[in-house]
Amino acid sequence: NDYGVDRITDAKEPTSSQDFDELRLLARHEYLTQREEQKIAVVVKELEYLEADVVKYGWDNLSRQEQDEITLKREVVKLFNDKLKRQGHNGFLMGDGAVEGKALLDKKRELLKTRSGKDRVQVEKSAQKQWEDKQLNNAVQGSDYDTIKVEGSEEYEFVFDEQAFIEFSTEDGDSLSPGSNEEVALTELESRLEKETARLKSIHETRKSLPVYQYRDDLLNAVKEHQIMIVVGETGSGKTTQLPQYLVEDGYTQHGKLQVACTQPRRVAATSVATRVADEMGVMLGKEVGYSIRFEDKTTPGTTFLKYMTDGMLLREFMIDPELTNYACIMIDEAHERTLATDILLGLLKDILPHRKDLKLIISSATMNAVKFSEFFYGAPIFNVPGRRFPVDIHYTLQPEANYINAAITTVFQIHTTQSVPGDILVFLTGQEEIESAQQSIEEIAHVLGDKIRPLIIAPIYANLPQDQQSKIFQRTPEGCRKVVLATNIAETSLTINGINFVIDPGFVKENSYVAASGMSQLLTVPCSRASVDQRAGRAGRVGPGKCFRLFTKWSYFHELEPLPKPEILRVNLSQVVLLLMSMGIRDLVNFPLLDKPSIPTLSKALENLYVLGALNSKGAITRLGHIMCDFPCEPQFGKVMHTAATHEKCKGVLEEAVTIVAMLHETSSVLVNSRQDANKSGIVGQVQSDHMLYLEIFNAWKDMDYSRSWCLDHKVQYKTMLRVRNIRDQLWRCCEKLGLAALNEAALDAGNPLQDVEARLTRSFIAGFPGNIAQLGSSGYRTMGRQTGGLTVNIHPSSVVFQMFRKESKKPTKHLLYQRLVLTSKEYMRDCIPIPRENWLHDMLPHLFAKGS
Ligand code: ADP
Ligand code: MG
Repeated sequence: NDYGVDRITDAKEPTSSQDFDELRLLARHEYLTQREEQKIAVVVKELEYLEADVVKYGWDNLSRQEQDEITLKREVVKLFNDKLKRQGHNGFLMGDGAVEGKALLDKKRELLKTRSGKDRVQVEKSAQKQWEDKQLNNAVQGSDYDTIKVEGSEEYEFVFDEQAFIEFSTEDGDSLSPGSNEEVALTELESRLEKETARLKSIHETRKSLPVYQYRDDLLNAVKEHQIMIVVGETGSGKTTQLPQYLVEDGYTQHGKLQVACTQPRRVAATSVATRVADEMGVMLGKEVGYSIRFEDKTTPGTTFLKYMTDGMLLREFMIDPELTNYACIMIDEAHERTLATDILLGLLKDILPHRKDLKLIISSATMNAVKFSEFFYGAPIFNVPGRRFPVDIHYTLQPEANYINAAITTVFQIHTTQSVPGDILVFLTGQEEIESAQQSIEEIAHVLGDKIRPLIIAPIYANLPQDQQSKIFQRTPEGCRKVVLATNIAETSLTINGINFVIDPGFVKENSYVAASGMSQLLTVPCSRASVDQRAGRAGRVGPGKCFRLFTKWSYFHELEPLPKPEILRVNLSQVVLLLMSMGIRDLVNFPLLDKPSIPTLSKALENLYVLGALNSKGAITRLGHIMCDFPCEPQFGKVMHTAATHEKCKGVLEEAVTIVAMLHETSSVLVNSRQDANKSGIVGQVQSDHMLYLEIFNAWKDMDYSRSWCLDHKVQYKTMLRVRNIRDQLWRCCEKLGLAALNEAALDAGNPLQDVEARLTRSFIAGFPGNIAQLGSSGYRTMGRQTGGLTVNIHPSSVVFQMFRKESKKPTKHLLYQRLVLTSKEYMRDCIPIPRENWLHDMLPHLFAKGS
C-alpha cells in the first residue's frame, strides 16, 4: 500500500509539530485544494493503520511516540469529520462503530494518569515543579478533566475500516522493533510529539490556571452591570488574553455581528497576543481572531469578531466611524502606559459613551493609575484581580555604573556561573541597537568560555523584531540551559515571559521627548520611574522566588527616580493628534477631556506647526491639504511630502519616488544587515548624495530584480524588511490614487520630456514636509534651527552616507541639511540626512520661514 507500514519508524521524515499545526488548520478550513485534501486523506489512511495497532496490540503496549502520534492524528481526523458534518457530509472514509470512542477515551485518561505519575518521580522537586505538578494533577484527576484534552475529543468517534486492519495484520513484521539508527530518529520524533502534546495541554491548562479564571463570572457580571469598568491585576494574570475571550463567550459579539476590540500600546504586543489567543481558541489567526497594526491588517471583515489592535489604529477607526458602531466592547489595555493614543482614545470614548449605552468599556491597568482612571470616568468601579507573586530579592550596586550595558553583561555571566538552572534571565535595555550589541558581546564571551559554562540561549525582543523571531522568547528553555531574554520595556507589562527568575535592570528607558520652545523632538535615554523599575522587578517573581539586580544605587532609587512615568501627551509633538482631532470636528482643544492636559504653549506650537505645513489656515480651520494629510496612515509631515511631490510647481512628477522613500523611512532601522558601508561596497548604488537617495536606489534595484530574495542576500539587505517596505509602499500608493494625487503626478509627467532634476524635486518635497528638521552649518558644525533658542549642535550620524561623503571624500558640507530623526546617544546625532545644496530651495518651499537667498 501507498502509505507504508513502517511509517512510524520512517527515520527520514517524522511528522513534526509544525506539520501537525498545519494539518489541524487544514482540517478546519472550509474549502481545501485537492492537494490539501490529499494531505488529510493520507492522515486518515495512516490513522486507520494505527488504530489497527491499537486493537491488535492494546493501547498500553504501544510505544509512547505511537500513542502520541495516534492522539494527534485522531484530533486532526476528528476536526476534519466535524467540519464535513457541518457541511452536511456523513463522515469521511470511515464506517461506523468499529471502535467505541468511549473506550478509547478511557484509555487515554489512564495513559495521562500513569504518565503524570511517572513524570513526578523523575523531576526534581523545585517549588516551581511542585506547583506545575499540582496543576497537572488537578487537571488530570479533577472533575473537569475533559478540559485538558484536545478540543472536541470527548465525542471522539473515530472508526476505522476493518478491512484495513486485516490487510495490515498480514504485513506485520519488524517494523515495530527499529534498529539503532532508527532509534535515534525515534527519540527525536518522540520528543517532538511530546512537545506538541505538552503544548496543547498547557494551553488549556494555562487558561484555567490563570488568576482571572476564578473571577470569570464576577467579571462578566460586573461588565453587565456597568458600562465602564477598570480592571487591575498583576502582569501575567490573564487580562489581555482572557478577558476579551470571556466577552466573546458571553455573547457580546451577537454571533459575530459585532466586534470586541482590545488595544495595545505596542505592535509586538498586539500581534503576539492575537497569535496566542487564536491558538487558544483553535482558530486561524486573521479569521475569527485577528490583529490590526499600522500597515498590517490581519483581519477578515465580517468574520473577525475579536481584534487586537494598536491604540493608534483604533484612533484611526474613530476617524472613519466616530460612533464605533461595529464594536460591542472595547478594552483599553495597558492604560497605565499612558501613550498619547490611549489618552486621546479615553477622551473620545468619554465623549461617545453617554449616547452609546450598549458599548462596554474596560480599562485595564497596572495598579498605579487605577484611581485616576476611575475618577476620569465619574467613579467607575475598579475590579481587582489578585495575582500570585513570589517574593523578589532586590540587589543594588554600591556605586553608580558608568557603562550599564557592560555591567548588565557582567551580571548575566555572574548569575549564569553561580546560580543553578532552570532560571532564565530577563535584561531590560533601551532599544534595538543596545540589544544587538549586548547579544553580540554575550555570544562572544560565551564562545570564549566554551564548555566551561552551560549553554546560553539569547532571545532578543523589541518592537521591530521580525515576527517569526519573536516566538523564541516564549519557547521553553531546554533542560540544563539558561535563556537570556534581552528586552526593551515591552517586557515590563505587555508581554509575559514564563520561566524568568532573574531580572537585570539598568533602570533606563528610551523616551520621545519634545521641547515646544525649540520645536524639536528627540529620542532620549532617561532613567525610568520608580513604578517602572518595580514592575520590572516583579517579572522575576512569577514562577517562584526571584532576584532582581538593579544596576543603580539604592540612594538613586529613593532620591533620583520619579515616582511615575511622564505621560506621553506631556512630552511629545502634538501636531499629529491636534490635526486628527480637528479633522474629527473637535475645535475646542482646551476643553477636550484628557487625563492630563498638555500645556497651552505645546498646543499653540502644534497649531503653529500645522499652519506652517498648510494643514490649517490663518483662522485655525483645517484645510483641504490638512484633510489629505490626515488620510495618509503616517505622520502628517510625510503626507505633506507626498502631496508636494505630486503637485508643487517645482517638484511635481516625483510622487512615485517620494512614496518609495517615505516607505523606506518607516523601516530604516532594519533595512541593511550591517552598516550602510556594506550597501555601498556591495555595489547596489553608484554614488548617492543622501540617505534618501540610497533608500530609493536600494528599493528600485530590488524591484528591478523582481523583488528577489537572493538579491537581498547578495547585497546584505534584509529581505523581510523589504517585503514590509513594499507592502507599506503599496498602501501609500493606493492612498495617493484615492486622493487623486497619482493622477496629478501623472499629468505632470505627460507634460514634457523625461523629468529633469529628480533629486532636486525630491529634496524640495522633503523640505516642504519637514521645515522643522533643518540644520544650518556654523563655526562649530551643524546647528538645529530652533528660532527662539538658537539651536543645538548636532552631528551627522557616522552611518549616514552624508557623513561618509563629507568626511571621507572631503566634499564641502552644504550650508543646510535636512534630517529625519534626532537621536541622543553619546552625542546628538542626525539620522537619515539629505543635504540642501541651494539656499533658495528653502525660500522656494518655505517662503514664510526663509528669506530669499542667493
Ligand atoms: P496579563 O494581560 O494579565 O498580563 P496575559 O493575558 O498577557 O496576562 O497572559 C496570560 C498568560 O498567557 C501568561 O501566563 C503568559 O505566559 C501566557 N501567554 C501570553 N502570551 C503568550 C504567547 N504569545 N505565548 C505563550 N504564552 C503566552
Ligand atoms: Mg496584558
